[in-house]
Amino acid sequence: MKKHNFSAGPSILPQFTIDETAKAVKDFAGTGLSVMEVSHRGKEFVAVMDEAVAMFKEILSIPEGYSVIFLGGGASLQFCMVPFNLMNRKSAYLNTGEWASKALKEAKFFGEAVEVASSKDKNFSYIPKQYEIPEDADYFHITTNNTIFGTEIKYDMDVKIPLVADMSSDIFSRPVDISKYALIYGGAQKNLAPAGVTFVIIKNDILGKVERKIPTMLNYQTHIDKESMFNTPPVLPVFAALQTLKWLKSCGGVVEMQKRNQAKAALLYNAIDTNPLFRSTIPDPADRSLMNICFVMEEKYAALEGEFSTFAKEHGMVGIAGHRSVGGFRASCYNAMPIESVQALVDCMNKFAELKA
Ligand SMILES: *Cc1c(COP(=O)(O)O)cnc(C)c1O
Repeated sequence: MKKHNFSAGPSILPQFTIDETAKAVKDFAGTGLSVMEVSHRGKEFVAVMDEAVAMFKEILSIPEGYSVIFLGGGASLQFCMVPFNLMNRKSAYLNTGEWASKALKEAKFFGEAVEVASSKDKNFSYIPKQYEIPEDADYFHITTNNTIFGTEIKYDMDVKIPLVADMSSDIFSRPVDISKYALIYGGAQKNLAPAGVTFVIIKNDILGKVERKIPTMLNYQTHIDKESMFNTPPVLPVFAALQTLKWLKSCGGVVEMQKRNQAKAALLYNAIDTNPLFRSTIPDPADRSLMNICFVMEEKYAALEGEFSTFAKEHGMVGIAGHRSVGGFRASCYNAMPIESVQALVDCMNKFAELKA
């Protein structure tokens, strides 16, 4: 039976990425060796790294004056690298979920990290709108897509201080005006590559302004200067990321991705809103994530949750269990997810409703 992979992360990748990576695991660029066993400083891999950076810049239309680097450590290491490199005494955070809370916690090790607003009062089911950003903070940190709770900031904010964004789970899902950001980071395992590589897009002139000494490995400048080759980069995930970027470009880039993602999300949210058994956990449609679509059983059908899980699994649905802090279901519809799979989930929900409602 066909599997429909709605996992939140690591998650679905384009078949192209999987096929090309599989080939290179056996024979990389005609070397007769696996991409896993060649030097990261050999000309074949250096070419992969260079092309990955170039395609990153091209697809996202990254302006002059920005660097793209690939690191290890996951998005979680960025929670501390960001304040380490950018925060003198004060920073500001918008708390929209578990990842945002974790980022804020790390910033507190470095000084005064202000929580400008939080949606914790309603289990992170909305994006706070009214708040003030202290102008004396060194940066304002947001999490554009809340992978766990299913809310998303789908536009580029105008703020007076440098804007930093965790885009782990919605990078490449829409066009982004990079010039509005000082720094964007993310783990690759949601929309780009297998786990193991983290991307960081940095406006070069925001660095070098903190008073503290920064350990070499945690200093962004090290990795910019060494073009992500200060130490051994995650070779295989970088190779796979490049394949995803090639696939993305051949599909029509981020404009096309946005169209597809909007169509998939509209299909699923509409099914949730009209199906008597289910409801969305995010009341305001403007705040609903296009990437991670969360829903629960209506109160009166709550007892059917386990049964629907089994039913969905029998119909090939994979990874739709909600995060433990939300419960219910979460269908992650990243770039590589075809609309046919979303339709299969919708059909499955409707079929279940016919049996039960
Ligand atoms: C998954 C995720 C993280 C954590 O990423 P790691 O690479 O596992 O550290 C951070 N932020 C967001 C928004 C995520 O979705």
